[in-house]
Amino acid sequence: MATINSNFLKLKAGYLFPEIARRVKAYSEANPEKAGKIIRCGIGDVTEPLPAAVVKAMHEGVDEQANRETFHGYGPEQGYEFLRQAIVDNQYQSMSISADEVFISDGSKCDTGNILDIFGNGNTIAITDPVYPVYVDTNVMEGNTGDADEKGAYGGLLYLPCTAENGFVAAPPTEKADLIYLCFPNNPTGATANKEQLKAWVDYAKANDAIILYDAAYEAFIQDPEIPHSIFEIEGAHDCAIEFRSFSKNGGFTGIRCGYVVIPKTVTGSDANGNRVPLHQLWNRRTSTKFNGASYPVQKGAAAIFSEEGKAQVNALIEHYMGNAKLLREAATELGLAVYGGENAPYVWIACPEGVSSWDMFDKMLEEAQVVVTPGSGFGSAGEGYFRVSAFNSRQNVQEVCKRLSALVG
Ligand SMILES: *Cc1c(COP(=O)(O)O)cnc(C)c1O
Repeated sequence: MATINSNFLKLKAGYLFPEIARRVKAYSEANPEKAGKIIRCGIGDVTEPLPAAVVKAMHEGVDEQANRETFHGYGPEQGYEFLRQAIVDNQYQSMSISADEVFISDGSKCDTGNILDIFGNGNTIAITDPVYPVYVDTNVMEGNTGDADEKGAYGGLLYLPCTAENGFVAAPPTEKADLIYLCFPNNPTGATANKEQLKAWVDYAKANDAIILYDAAYEAFIQDPEIPHSIFEIEGAHDCAIEFRSFSKNGGFTGIRCGYVVIPKTVTGSDANGNRVPLHQLWNRRTSTKFNGASYPVQKGAAAIFSEEGKAQVNALIEHYMGNAKLLREAATELGLAVYGGENAPYVWIACPEGVSSWDMFDKMLEEAQVVVTPGSGFGSAGEGYFRVSAFNSRQNVQEVCKRLSALVG
């Protein structure tokens, strides 16, 4: 008899995006004349094509694979030196990170889930609410939680509510946690944490011998020069933090797949006897065993993001999406709604009108404006009463969405 990992049975059926798809389909079938008008601002996926410098480098990478002399077979599991070094030189200057502390992967979703391989059971896991669902679900699969209650909250997790009152940045709790997931700029709220707020988390982690899992997938969207891009800008983080980054959102790599994990060699965890073990050593072993490296042409393409042309092209993409975010913010503000995010992140987080639930607002936007948004409650119970509008779209679509929003009330 092959038994299964019964923890999977605790998972709430992937309800958010399938449920959105179900409602959009039902609406389209009932209103075929409106179906063609639907604009999707729901899923956090980029819309604009790859930077030209990336396309060129990837073509070259494929051409190399076509010739015996330049062919590459298996590469280093941890990633090619040219990319690891380019990342350190361009993203971690003066942060005392070395190229061999950077592990290249096929994206951050996998990394943020796989990282649990190197941690034991019985850790107290702190997770912000609302949150990127991957952190929660992977802990459920690992058996780090109890069952979900009727609101979808899992027993055993330490939820940190992010509300308008705390500016959607949770302060360290009074309870002791062992692993802490932080994501700034945040998906879904678009909130950012300043140096003092991150310092409080690093101090908390050091005082509690905890590890911060810092997801910086959206760092490229930060406009305010005072806001840290990396947890390693904070003193002490080299002893207690792991950082996840991805080329998905800055370089438009959602369909290409490349990300990386930064683990300083000074970050350690405890074995059963209290001996300290570097997490770097464990992740390196895990990577060599379970991964055979990201694709060569993809890593060539990723490195091209750090070329002069690549940087300029990525800046133009960021400017495009942040221009969209500004328009969406203005349109929602004009509606009289409380608007958050969208200033250092590609997500605008909007409070529903008094007494309207996230899903009611979803239905209203779909039925009256044919605009698909993401209900905040899908990211956690503290997201109830909000909805997320993604700035990942063409300018034309965003302008049309803004026009429809003003017509909603007028
Ligand atoms: C998009 C996103 C990522 C990146 O995921 P990839 O697997 O690299 O595409 C990571 N974290 C968050 C919170 C995201 O929204």
